Order: sequence, then structure tokens, then C-alpha cells
Amino acid sequence: MEPIELCKAGHPLDAANLYVSPRSGQRMCRECSRVVGRLRWKNGSVWEMRRWAERNGHTISERGSLPRAVVSAYRIAHQKPRDTMVEPVRRLFEALFSG
Ligand SMILES: [Zn+2]
Repeated sequence: MEPIELCKAGHPLDAANLYVSPRSGQRMCRECSRVVGRLRWKNGSVWEMRRWAERNGHTISERGSLPRAVVSAYRIAHQKPRDTMVEPVRRLFEALFSG
């Protein structure tokens, strides 16, 4: 029996976990893809932007990337409070929340 190959993160690349891209033949670890997917999910934004855009009456297609106009509208609407804070408050804010 051949030893099971491991991905860079140490997941076994067995039948259940190995994904081979039908187009490129590239071998990928499903577990690692899941982790990356979760991180993207957490950081945001495409999913969140999509929901925001829908709530705000922008028409966007179900697939593909978001229109540039929607992305900038989202950014403007979600500017961090510290962009508008006065200097001492901003410094305090950064001291509290940085790192
Ligand atoms: Zn992996």
C-alpha cells in the first residue's frame, strides 16, 4: 500500500480530500480550500457587498465580479469612523484597537 501523500498543511491527500482540477489537472487539497474559503468569508467582502448592494437597490448579476461603481459606493458608505474622527480621538482609537 502506498503511503498517503500530504498537502503543505499536512492534510492527507486521499480520495476524499484530493481535488484534481478537470481543466488544469492541478491537484488541490479540499481541506485547505475550505480554510481559504472560510477566511474570505470572514474578511468579507464580496458576499457582504453583494448583500449590501441588493439592499440598496443596485442591480448585480448573480455570478461574476461586482461592478466597480457598487464597490466604491460600498466603500464610501462603510468608511471607518476614524476617517472622520478628530486627531486625539483617532489616536486613542488606534491605541485601543491596533494590534
Ligand atoms: Zn491541506
